[in-house]
Amino acid sequence: MRIIKGFKTAKYFKNTLKFWFAFGVFGTFSHAATLQESKWEQGQTLLTFFEKNAVPLKTYYELAPEDKELADEIISGSTYYTLYDDSTLLQALIPINENSQLHVFKQGDKYGMRAIPIVYFSKEHTISLSVSNSLYNDITRLTGDSFLASDFIQAYKGSVDFRKEVRKGDQLAIIYERKYRLGKNFGAPNIKASTLRVSNNNRYVIRHEDGHFYDLKGNNLTKYLLTVPLQYKRISSHFSMGRKHPILGYKRPHLGTDYAAPRHTPIRAAGNGRVLFAGTKGGYGKTVIIQHDNGYRTLYAHMHKIERKIRTGTQVKQGRKIGTVGSTGLSTGPHLHFGLYKNGNAVNPIKHLKVAQSKLQGKEKESFLISAKNYKEALNTALREDRLQNIPFKRVKNDYIVYLSKDDKNLN
Ligand SMILES: [Zn+2]
Repeated sequence: MRIIKGFKTAKYFKNTLKFWFAFGVFGTFSHAATLQESKWEQGQTLLTFFEKNAVPLKTYYELAPEDKELADEIISGSTYYTLYDDSTLLQALIPINENSQLHVFKQGDKYGMRAIPIVYFSKEHTISLSVSNSLYNDITRLTGDSFLASDFIQAYKGSVDFRKEVRKGDQLAIIYERKYRLGKNFGAPNIKASTLRVSNNNRYVIRHEDGHFYDLKGNNLTKYLLTVPLQYKRISSHFSMGRKHPILGYKRPHLGTDYAAPRHTPIRAAGNGRVLFAGTKGGYGKTVIIQHDNGYRTLYAHMHKIERKIRTGTQVKQGRKIGTVGSTGLSTGPHLHFGLYKNGNAVNPIKHLKVAQSKLQGKEKESFLISAKNYKEALNTALREDRLQNIPFKRVKNDYIVYLSKDDKNLN
């Protein structure tokens, strides 16, 4: 646990005030309030967090079912913030994905909780470098962003044999968007376009609006696809970020797709992978979580029955029956709540399940080719200019952001 700042003087008060605006939520606080930044420990639940902080447990039990479901979305290892007056918890901000967080707040002698949007800003960067060690190490060293390195490698996995083809001195360039929260990297980067020069040949990969990677001619390069995990009647609730202004109304995020289907309908693994969890998980009831390749994870909730052989550590093939549809946990009727996570962040399953087109066509292709051409030029310019020295991570100068990464010597 790290205490960012205890502030009791007027100077700190001023800085702190700005800080709260950055957060956008922590509105009221005492002059002796302390803000803490902590990591959500493995196994910690909202209930144990309440217990630890002397928040009456009925605060949890009285939550709406949908909010309890969201409480199960807290990702262990993620950074959360708490505000204390001496030892009394005033507020807490606990992320449930890259866009939403749970806001726990004290109101009189009671506590409340709401899911609210996370305040962040994003910025586009262009980098280029020559390979000196390995693609992964070089990108991570330059940017301090291992997610960027693995996403880049992902983009070329199917078309480049890294061990055989990539040599010292080969060049690459990446155009990507990064989110920041409180001056630090936040969530995963979004690579828009990149090039890798191997064997005197530039390979380009462009991300289309559908989230998939394509080559310059509009051929889909995405190799890994998940399948729909059951035969369903209809989608009863879609994935939603719930980004609605808090003043206009409270809309909760829904971090998965709900498939309505009769009880006992077989549920099948959406892809090859390893079972991470099989058991009861709070509001989700009987739940299975499977870890797949490429940072994907799927979650199947409200199951009636989990197959006997599906246990933590079991390797499963795509399409293997893992259990049946039910309405365990907090559920109004039989359905499968299906969650999909990319690098720990909940994403819309439908987008990743859709049978991806192998090739773009018609108008869509036309507009893709135009933007691909622009990206190609920008990437070539970046390669020529050699932006190795152009470190993309600037320190945010706002008095209270104290670090960007562990070794930020060369981040200036
Ligand atoms: Zn659901």
